[in-house]
Order: sequence, then structure tokens, then C-alpha cells
Amino acid sequence: MIAMIERLIGSGHAYAAEGHVLFSVASFPAYGQLSRRDPEEMLAGARVEVAPYKRDAGDFVLWKPSTPDLPGWDSPQGRGRPGWHIECSAMAGAHLGETIDIHAGGIDLQFPHHENEIAQSQCAHGGKVFARFWLHNGMLNFGGAKMSKSVGNIERVHDLVRKHPPEALRYALLSAQYRQPLDWSDALIEQSVRTWTGCTARCATSPASKPYLPSRGRWRMPWRTTSTLRWPCPRWPASPARHARPPAQATVPG
Ligand SMILES: [Zn+2]
Repeated sequence: MIAMIERLIGSGHAYAAEGHVLFSVASFPAYGQLSRRDPEEMLAGARVEVAPYKRDAGDFVLWKPSTPDLPGWDSPQGRGRPGWHIECSAMAGAHLGETIDIHAGGIDLQFPHHENEIAQSQCAHGGKVFARFWLHNGMLNFGGAKMSKSVGNIERVHDLVRKHPPEALRYALLSAQYRQPLDWSDALIEQSVRTWTGCTARCATSPASKPYLPSRGRWRMPWRTTSTLRWPCPRWPASPARHARPPAQATVPG
């Protein structure tokens, strides 16, 4: 992370001020492209008070100073710790290379986190594309709010599978397109359990579906390759496989 920050300072994409190192958003014209935001509008819409050490309101922290009671590491700027985004850029660069094929994540990370990752990585790697494809999934909502560990409105998979057939839970998760939000509710689970049990009941009476029947309490899933997902039931009413298929076209950027 420190080496990457030093490279960004050296190439004029970052600057040190009052123990901080900031990325200069103005130095990267493509900033805002992923989330389709206009940098000018972003600045105009900045309501928070701008820290005095920032040249531009949109500049974001790469490194910040640490007090003795906070975790910290020695750096050319003194003892400090990394900002939120630089870790991802440094890890991706070290383990996956300068350009990665697919970067996925929740839509809530598109801005600012992924936008900042692109800015840091691309500028530290001489303008090389950071990720060829971005896949942002919609949020799983629960009780009208985003399901989140920090909010505490979560359901754990190992609790759910004790109460419902795992296949029905999978079906429930596949019922929304990946970029759309999915409202997780008792009604969704009940509906999915009904659909799944209805299908398996129909399969049970069909001689053609023998290989798909449960053996010793476990379903045999004839998934083939990742590109051709075959739904296990040949008599499924309305092929849900179209939901399960990986997206034919990734969004660039999006
Ligand atoms: Zn990240």
C-alpha cells in the first residue's frame, strides 16, 4: 500500500498534506465513469464540511495519521494507517495483476469505493484498465431495509436450512435478476417452498425424471458447466434457469 501511494505521489495523482495522503480526483478525468456521476455535480452536491488539507472536496484519503492508541504503521508521512480503498487496489495488484477480468460487489459499493479503486489502480499502473467487467448485485432487503450485519436485520443460512428445504431457499434467491433488489420475507420463502415442492411432486410421478429424484435424502444436482446451468427438473413449468444463467453481457462500466 505504501509503495502504491508513493507511486501515486510521484506521478502527481496524490499529494501529502498534514500527515494525510490524498488522491487528487482532478488528476483522473475518468473519475465518476463507473457510477455515471459528473465530477462537477459531485462537488456541488458535497454537503459535508471539507477538510482543510484537501485541495478539492472530492479528494479521498489514501493514508491518514494514527494517534498512539490507534493501529498504525511507519510510513514516509509518519505513523499512520491506510484509507478504506487503497487496501483493495494493493491486494488486487499484488495477487491478481494490474488488470483483472471481473470485479463484483454490491451496488452500494459502486460509489465511492469502486470508483476510488479504479482511480488508484489505473493511475498507479500507467493507465492500464483495472477491471474489464463490473458486476454489481442488487441488495437483499429485509423488513424494508438493506440486510446488513451492522444493522442486525439478518437471517443466517444455517438457521434457514433447518426450517426450509435448501433448494427452495436457492430458488428464492434466484427469483430476482442479480442487479435487482430482492425482498427477503416469509411470503417469498413460503412461495418458493410451494413452487419447489410442487415441482418435485410432479417430477416424482414422471419416469423421465428418475435421475433427478432425491437419493438418500440428498438431491442430485446435474449441474454441468458454469456456462450451461441445467435446471435439475426436466418438467419444470417455466425454466427458472434463465435466472440462473450467468449474465451474457457484463456492463462496462456499470
Ligand atoms: Zn474493495
